[in-house]
Formats: sequence, C-alpha cells, structure tokens
Amino acid sequence: MTHAEDDSGDVRVVTALNRNSSLPLTQRSYGLGSTYAESRVTAYWRKDVQGCPALELEVGYQKTTVHIASELKDSPCAYDHVHAHEMNHLAIYRKWLEESPERLGAVFKERFAMLTALDAPQRGQETVRLALQEFGKVRAQHDQFDSEEEYAANQAVCERFIPKMLDRLEKEGKLP
Ligand SMILES: [Zn+2]
Repeated sequence: MTHAEDDSGDVRVVTALNRNSSLPLTQRSYGLGSTYAESRVTAYWRKDVQGCPALELEVGYQKTTVHIASELKDSPCAYDHVHAHEMNHLAIYRKWLEESPERLGAVFKERFAMLTALDAPQRGQETVRLALQEFGKVRAQHDQFDSEEEYAANQAVCERFIPKMLDRLEKEGKLP
C-alpha cells in the first residue's frame, strides 16, 4: 500500500478535505492532518471446473494521500507529531487490508447461497455493495484511535504549538 504526501494546503484546505470525507479529523473541528484512502472493490463471478459458481474478490485502496496543514511547517516538532498521528491512520488501513481476505471470506461464505440465487447483474451489484459495506467498517477503528486522550495529547505537545497556532489563525481570520 503506497501513499502520497501533500503539505501544500493550509488549515482551511485540510479542514475542507476532512469535512468532505468520511474520515475523522485529527483535531476536532479543524483539520491539521488528513489521511485519505479510496476503497476499491473488484468482484468477478465465474464457474469452477465442476461448473459451480465461484467468487473472485479483490479489495484495496487507491489515491491514498496524507495531507498535513502547511502552517505546521513553522514547527518541525508539531509537524512530526501530526505526521506520526496520520501514519497511525495509515497503519490502521494497512492492517485492515491484511485482515480483509479472512473477514470478507467469512462474510461471503455466509451469503454465498443467497448471492448465487440472484441473476448475474443483481449478483454482481450485491457483491460489490456487501464488500464495500464490510470493507468500510474500518471507520470504527479510526474513530477509536481519535480518542479524547489522543486529542488532549496533540494539544499539549511542542509547548502547545497547536492550540497557540489555532488561536493566532483565528485572530487573523484564517480559520474556516
Ligand atoms: Zn486522526
């Protein structure tokens, strides 16, 4: 799983990214960092050698990008801290992806008879819908990681650079 990094957008840009995505914010209301990953599902129903239906399913992420607000470049300490936080989100995605064959295998084993009873176009649609639904459950793990404790820690590091920076940006009218 490869990713791109982008620290060209300011807090306004990163906040908009977070609010438009299903991903949680590093800081509650403003985006200092954001990790974007788009789910990709490929489903292919074929017949095995005995003529029985068999499902080939592939899931992954695309357009994976870590965004860090450009204002954080004023403090290497705070930048590294937010970056490490986003790397943790990336690690959550990576682990989820590794576990996916097993998780999805169990889900589809349970629904195999129901799916094979559908006609081909419907079966394809339902397969993709179920796979995306199950694959998307990683969201709960991101939410769990973005805990009150994690938030408080982010406020406290680097001589409170982050809350001071947000105060300054607010006074300058540079917050969204
Ligand atoms: Zn976070």
